[in-house]
Amino acid sequence: MTASSEPQREATSRRRFLAAAGTAAAVPAAAALIGGGPLAGTARAAAPGGLTDYAPVPPGALGPALNADGYFAGNISGNLYWVTDSVYQAMFLTTRDGVVLVDAPPTIGHNLLRAISAVTQANSSPAKVTHLVYSHSHADHIGASALLGADVVRIGHSECRRLLLREADPNRPAPTVTFDDHYVLETGGERLLLDYHGPNHTPDNIFIYAPDHQTLMVVDVIFPGWVPFKNLAVSQDIPSWIRAQDVAMGYPWQTLVGGHLGRLGRRADGNLQIAYVADLLAGARATIASLDPTPFFARYGNNSWAIFKAYLDAAAAQVAAPVTAKYLGRLAAADVFTADNAYVMFESLRVDYGTLGPFGNHP
Ligand SMILES: [Zn+2]
Repeated sequence: MTASSEPQREATSRRRFLAAAGTAAAVPAAAALIGGGPLAGTARAAAPGGLTDYAPVPPGALGPALNADGYFAGNISGNLYWVTDSVYQAMFLTTRDGVVLVDAPPTIGHNLLRAISAVTQANSSPAKVTHLVYSHSHADHIGASALLGADVVRIGHSECRRLLLREADPNRPAPTVTFDDHYVLETGGERLLLDYHGPNHTPDNIFIYAPDHQTLMVVDVIFPGWVPFKNLAVSQDIPSWIRAQDVAMGYPWQTLVGGHLGRLGRRADGNLQIAYVADLLAGARATIASLDPTPFFARYGNNSWAIFKAYLDAAAAQVAAPVTAKYLGRLAAADVFTADNAYVMFESLRVDYGTLGPFGNHP
């Protein structure tokens, strides 16, 4: 692909299309350019009302049907279970002394207790949640933790405690049992290994491994069947988040609880996401070497931010187009978040990996 002509042409045709559809005024320029990147590649049209139409979700990306209460609870192996509302996931271990719950997403909320009650009734074990493990401090994964009451043992990374003490959110009491590197939770004849491998999605995100069940739970790192959530899962440390995928694959798991969406993960899901992310990084490297910034300097003169915005938007579109085309149909929502993921990858290449391209070394 030569210089910037392709993304510019795409952007122009998109703008024309949006104007024709009468939606241009309702769609911010950035959304039209970034969010619209995959539109051109997949020939999708805006639905009536101005909402973008996307490719159907491949059936293999979807999980089991939800029950009338809006959740699905399933057995993973032995006393290990998972629960989902098809967007979020939690995991729990029943033991002869009570239940160990990992995460309490507010979207599942009281259905966590319903799921635990149904499962423990069926396997004749105590329903009381004795331990709550925090995968990380984010409210969307642990914000229903207050449901578990005051006498549950709350376990998380020491950084998770620091962050939650700072937030002072009544829905997220800080963990009281903390660790820095490794923690073995043994209770009622069951065990979980909690490992910290440094910052990734957040500074406190941990790996929770159930060795007797060959199951790993790590949240916001691998998204089975789907492309990563917007901006590479809104991760705070992109190079470490990329490495965290490999750290996850280093565990001998057969089942992954990713914390999101409707189904469990298999090892092939991890490998496919790693390939997708590697393609984004390779595309970013190729784009920064080939995309000519001259038109943006010429057009915007002394408006430095306009130059950067136009350049970065064009770069993201150029990175995203072939990746979207390659993974559409293999990863759900490749046409939804690949442009955003490409944008963040390109910025990370510049500022984290230090490949600054035209905004780098002064001649
Ligand atoms: Zn998170």
